Amino acid sequence: MAESTSLDKNDLIFDGLLKTMPVIVFVLDQSGTFLFSKGAGLKPLGLKDDQVVGLHYLDIYAEHPEIIKQIKTALAEGFLNAETELNGLHYRLFYRPLRDGQVVGIALDQTEFENLKKQSDYFITELLTAYEVSNEGMWSLHLKQGIVEHNRRWREIFGYSEDEPSNLMEHFANRVHPDDIQRVLSKVESAMESGETFNHEYRLNTPYGLRYVQDRGKVVSRDKDGNPERMTGSLSDITQDVLNQKKLEQLAFQDELTGLPNKVSSENFWKQQPKLENALPVGFAILDIDNFKLVNDVLGHKVGDVLIQNVANLIYSQLTDKSQFFRLGGDEFLIISQNITQEKCLSNLKDLLASVKKVAFHKDVNVKNTFSCGVAFYPDDGHHYDDLFRRAENALYQAKNNGKDQLVRFDMAMELAVEQRYNMLVKLQKALVRKQLFFHYQPQISLIDGRCVGAEILLRWLDDDGKLIPPNVFIPIAEQSQQIIPMTYWIIEEAFLIKQKWHNQGHFNIELAINLPAQFLSEPNLVSYLEQKAQKFNLENSEITLEITESQLMQNHTVDHFGVLRELRLKGFGLAVDDFGTGYSNLANLANCSFSKLKIDKKFIDGLSAPFHNSLQVVEGSAIVKAMLGMAKSLNLEVIAEGVETQEQAEWLKHNGCGQIQGYYFSKPLPEEDFLSFLALHG
Ligand code: C2E
Ligand code: CA
Ligand code: CA
Repeated sequence: MAESTSLDKNDLIFDGLLKTMPVIVFVLDQSGTFLFSKGAGLKPLGLKDDQVVGLHYLDIYAEHPEIIKQIKTALAEGFLNAETELNGLHYRLFYRPLRDGQVVGIALDQTEFENLKKQSDYFITELLTAYEVSNEGMWSLHLKQGIVEHNRRWREIFGYSEDEPSNLMEHFANRVHPDDIQRVLSKVESAMESGETFNHEYRLNTPYGLRYVQDRGKVVSRDKDGNPERMTGSLSDITQDVLNQKKLEQLAFQDELTGLPNKVSSENFWKQQPKLENALPVGFAILDIDNFKLVNDVLGHKVGDVLIQNVANLIYSQLTDKSQFFRLGGDEFLIISQNITQEKCLSNLKDLLASVKKVAFHKDVNVKNTFSCGVAFYPDDGHHYDDLFRRAENALYQAKNNGKDQLVRFDMAMELAVEQRYNMLVKLQKALVRKQLFFHYQPQISLIDGRCVGAEILLRWLDDDGKLIPPNVFIPIAEQSQQIIPMTYWIIEEAFLIKQKWHNQGHFNIELAINLPAQFLSEPNLVSYLEQKAQKFNLENSEITLEITESQLMQNHTVDHFGVLRELRLKGFGLAVDDFGTGYSNLANLANCSFSKLKIDKKFIDGLSAPFHNSLQVVEGSAIVKAMLGMAKSLNLEVIAEGVETQEQAEWLKHNGCGQIQGYYFSKPLPEEDFLSFLALHG
């Protein structure tokens, strides 16, 4: 019973094997007839179990002489190991003798094994190639032997040749930066213990110089006692990333153009300084190249850049403590002077400004640059960087406003002035909407017949509190903030409207003068805008005169202002140089853009009866005005004298050939109604 069970069991196992394995088991009798044929290996041949039983091998394999020969040998000898191909499949065969001359054959289908082997060979070659050509350095440490296997990239990173190195410790000692080696080894050791992946960065000294790498690895096999045998990992060269990062960090603190530390650096520097209670003051000086914008706009940014570099170099060379010189951006520099009295600091800075302004900084810029400088002091003007910075800037602003080329020390009144300017700007922004702006009109009188031939529009602002704010207070603020642009559009629109109204009332021959800030000349399509306005209100272009102050004309060059002016003149608009004599203009330029009128500034009219002091000599005021009149005549320009307050002035001007006057002598600027009454008497 027990035996039969075990037989049954063997049968079951045998059956199971036959059904699952790629084998064929067959039995041939002595004559060569199949007695048995079973196994999953039959399926690929298109045969079922025992399908060939009763058939003779010579019939079955008539077309396979190889197989016939093989079976013949097996039947004759009983034992045979052979191989055979059938229907594209590959078999290994084992023949063994049974009783009565029978032979059992086991055919193992090798095809699948072979496919698997081919595949794994392929993978291995692929992996090896990948290993060798990879852009990652690959390594494998044989810990017991102390040797390291590596791929091409690994050797490249470390700067090794084909066959070196193999000794691990030597390799570490030769290549890893001495300051990093301890850290590297302890990382590796703790990874050996824990079995975790390590990942660290370190520096290498290679024959090609310093390199930065990132190295990762872990233990991949241990001996039976748990000691690590092999460790594998990969290594990337991160030198470029590290250098880029360093460059970025540097850029964050350094100005690229001059190589000087930048504003952020100056703040850090300030924060790091110990602030001692009774220490000497610290000077905080902001320095700015005068008229730099002009250089940039006229000669281009490249010239501007060279100028900044040269200025930076020169100032740097003159400073005793060079570590505290910063470029803030644009044409602004900061000099922090420590442990110094205020007097000494100011005199040092004055000397510096005087010595650098003697230098021509660029071969294409034959003007010598001047500098403006604003200074604030710790602790008098503040304890914090931001306060000192703001106050030095306020002082700089003041230096610019006072006519540039000078040093100004901060004082509290400046801060109040800045605050007031800011508050006024906020109110001014609402003034247009709240209809608080309106015009006064100042008559312009012909000296030939004493008649009113024109009027200058002068803007007035009645603020929220009913206070009249004079234009020379709010116009400069509007000009600095760009608020002047929408304001000027509004002025033009209103002026044309008034002029049309006067037309309708029968006043035709009144030239209307509008003040234009030079920056308005940069407005796109200005000429056609004005033309269209004139058409819309049925006015001749020549009925409008545009006044531009001489000093602004000389300053502003972003757009070709002279070109715009020429075009306006061609279209027939009147063009007047306002405040003539205060802006040092180039006469050729004035003639060039066809100005039609000079407005001699009040200061020269005031000076008619007194000697006039210019910086070089004392000149009779009347001589200057005479010269202006002569020059205007030769350039064929009309002349109007401004700020005429007395009969003597008016008579002198008439006698010397001045065409028109404007001033309190005839009339102050008037509200519209009063102006129209004036016109009724003098029109
Ligand atoms: P401005 O264009 O030179 O205007 C002449 C200024 O001199 C006016 O001052 C006028 O009232 C004043 N004035 C005229 N005759 C005499 C006189 O005989 N004696 C004295 N002491 N002063 C006289 P106002 O109206 O205060 O304007 C000052 C400045 O504000 C103007 O100087 C002009 O630069 C600016 N401004 C006025 N209105 C406008 C405007 O609508 N647009 C622009 N952009 N600026 C304007
Ligand atoms: Ca004017
Ligand atoms: Ca003027």
